[in-house]
Amino acid sequence: MLQPINRRHFLRHCGVLGAALAGASSLPWWSGCASERVRRAGVLRAYAAPDISFTGSARDLPPVHVAPEREIRTVVGLRPYRPSGFVVRAEKLDDTLVVHNYGHGGSGITLSWGTAKLAVDLGVSGHRGAVAVLGCGAVGLANARLLQEAGFEVTIYAKAMPPETTSNVAGGQWFPAFLSDPTQRTDAFKAQLLAAAEYAYRRYQIMLGPRFGVRWMRNYYLNHQPFIESGYAGAQSPFRAMMPEYRALAPDEHPFTGYAFVRQFDTLLIEPPVYLAAMLDEFHLAGGRVVVRELPDRAAIQALPEKLVFNCTGLGARALFDDDELMPVKGQLTFLLPQPEVQYAPIAGDLYMFPRSDGILLGGTHEEGVWSLEPNLRRKAELLAAHKAFFDGFRG
Ligand SMILES: Cc1cc2nc3c(=O)[nH]c(=O)nc-3n(C[C@H](O)[C@H](O)[C@H](O)COP(=O)(O)OP(=O)(O)OC[C@H]3O[C@@H](n4cnc5c(N)ncnc54)[C@H](O)[C@@H]3O)c2cc1C
Repeated sequence: MLQPINRRHFLRHCGVLGAALAGASSLPWWSGCASERVRRAGVLRAYAAPDISFTGSARDLPPVHVAPEREIRTVVGLRPYRPSGFVVRAEKLDDTLVVHNYGHGGSGITLSWGTAKLAVDLGVSGHRGAVAVLGCGAVGLANARLLQEAGFEVTIYAKAMPPETTSNVAGGQWFPAFLSDPTQRTDAFKAQLLAAAEYAYRRYQIMLGPRFGVRWMRNYYLNHQPFIESGYAGAQSPFRAMMPEYRALAPDEHPFTGYAFVRQFDTLLIEPPVYLAAMLDEFHLAGGRVVVRELPDRAAIQALPEKLVFNCTGLGARALFDDDELMPVKGQLTFLLPQPEVQYAPIAGDLYMFPRSDGILLGGTHEEGVWSLEPNLRRKAELLAAHKAFFDGFRG
């Protein structure tokens, strides 16, 4: 059986959004298809989307074979976490307009297109001339592509490029998780969050397939206590319209021993190594320029030739813009050899498994305020043991 859910993390994961969200308007749907031309010119990567659609009963889910000798790697990343949530706002530095777009916690792949849409709408009105994007993770790349689609000449300035970004470390589940502290979310933030999620959810759907490493995946949320129905995984979740096939499973409908409460729904799985490489290709094919360099301070930003600058520096924004609220939440994932017959994702509090083409991903850890990129070997052993007990315990 998996460990009991850590309540603090569960609340953050499944936090309650208020009724204010009910009235939040959705964004107009993007329809400019410049990227289609680029996509046709693009290179199809070696990634093969598993050709296994879900047809059987959840009772027949194949277990993951967890054993130390099946491990292929353990990776660590630092989530850019702000208790009050991500930042999308504009700030003037003399004649330079900076639009911030950072602080996505554990949801930066999920929300990248959505917060990029909010940021671009905020910044480009009336602007003429070239534009700069700081950062080349999932957020910077989505921001840069939307600017290109709007007709702007874009230069990305980044200290590190894929595959050396936090975005490359992400699991890639499309769902807001470990985003912020639910008690610190304002109504304005909740409205931004829902608008961003709706836009991103639709955007990823036109990227489905091997080129971007995006596919649908059935998810199972497992709990020992009844679900908070207005929480993210609950029946009245503000994201409920983005959770097709949602339903509660009775104990005889699933193999998860010891879990009295199980909810299923389908969501997207985005494989970051495939996705980010394809996004960078698209950016180049559309005429984008990359400059690999660190921007040490505001003065360096003001000295850039571009007078409209999007700040997508993730955790880097802490030093660059003195944002003391921004902190790292260290996360660690262990990968086992791929198991192509496994095509579902169970999530039980801190523990989750995503079946990727580059391995069976076992998560996860959440260490607030920890800057170290060294794997925590004790946590790894605990996680492997918990996952082994979970999968070995499947009801036959
Ligand atoms: C273990 C783990 C699992 C995760 N799982 C998921 C998941 O399943 N789904 C999900 O949606 N999210 C997930 N995340 C969260 C996700 O990885 C982050 O939210 C996301 O990567 C943030 O993207 P970003 O582009 O803002 O930051 P980054 O990817 O960190 O990119 C920041 C960019 O800015 C550059 N930069 C920083 N400072 C400067 C500077 N001063 N000058 C120039 N360039 C600078 C960097 O070099 C980099 O290019 C996970 C994270 C971890 C660690």
